[in-house]
Amino acid sequence: MEKIDIKNLTLDELEQEIVNMGEAKFRAKQIFSWLHQKNVSSFDEMSNISKDFREKLNNRFKMTNIEIVDKLISSVDKTTKYLFKLENNHIIESVLMKYSYGNAVCISSQVGCRMGCTFCASTLDGLERNLTTAEMVSQIYKIQQDSKEKIRSIVLMGSGEPFDNFDNFLKFIEIINHKDGLNIGQRHITVSTCGIVPKIYELADKKLQINLALSLHAPTDEKRKSIMPIAKKYTVREIVEACKYFAKTTKRRVTYEYALIAGVNDTEEDAKEIIKLLKGSLAHINLIPVNDVKERNYIKSSKEQIKNFATLLKNAGIETTIRRELGSDINAACGQLRKSYKY
Ligand code: SAH
Repeated sequence: MEKIDIKNLTLDELEQEIVNMGEAKFRAKQIFSWLHQKNVSSFDEMSNISKDFREKLNNRFKMTNIEIVDKLISSVDKTTKYLFKLENNHIIESVLMKYSYGNAVCISSQVGCRMGCTFCASTLDGLERNLTTAEMVSQIYKIQQDSKEKIRSIVLMGSGEPFDNFDNFLKFIEIINHKDGLNIGQRHITVSTCGIVPKIYELADKKLQINLALSLHAPTDEKRKSIMPIAKKYTVREIVEACKYFAKTTKRRVTYEYALIAGVNDTEEDAKEIIKLLKGSLAHINLIPVNDVKERNYIKSSKEQIKNFATLLKNAGIETTIRRELGSDINAACGQLRKSYKY
């Protein structure tokens, strides 16, 4: 029988497995805590579990191991980019960001990405595979262990489209939020999507308290299609309706991410279209001066242009912020994470 990766299991699933093995249910909680709080890398470290039972565990389960292979620290703001090697030698990237209110980790959800956004490095060679839940939680545990920093919040904004890996993403949330695990509050978790409409509804109906960020980047279908292939599948109107449903159902404000690209999506006309789209809804716009990706030749809008764009939105009553660019000297900023590190 193929061994099960034990860190892929929620506590309920682990309890089921443990009971099926003829052991007491409470053992599952102990094991879960070793895995998700104490971050052990072998069953032998589980000192309150008998040797016999540890052996049984070893026969039934395996433990994912991801390995830090490189670490780049920004000289500007101490943002740290971690490169992890997965068991089959794929490389993924995650970022530790230090804010005055606490530390945030940005994790990847896939090796590569198949969404094809024209401004993003993560999608350059397409999708390799989904990450398992174990690989998603392990990015956080490893960063916490290495940096000795407490992690306060998590953003799913690294490589990949989390809603293209929906089931593993949901299990990830359940485990990382669990009181017997790291216990990271749902309100401290943000998932970003390029706009997979049915999944936005599905997530809304789960009534979780996590934050939704929507990568808008263009206010009309025509313009969006020219930079984001997913726009051929779902219209801007459908996406915004889904986000409004999310905001209504969860009472959580939705953040719209908008990377400003000179001459592409930064005109007054674009701002007016956004206002038409979002006026009066529980929304927040986060403007991101587009980051460099060496294979692409997009240019950031000027500071002046960004300020004017923000002012137009604010004057229309839409809450707007301009994102600080963290870690751009180490290619750790939005859209700069990728699956290979030979660059
Ligand atoms: N696939 C998800 C998660 C990725 S999050 C999504 O699309 O939302 C990464 C964020 O950075 C997204 O908003 C993405 O659109 C944005 N981004 C990608 N490339 C960028 C770039 N070159 N400059 C600024 N933001 C970028």
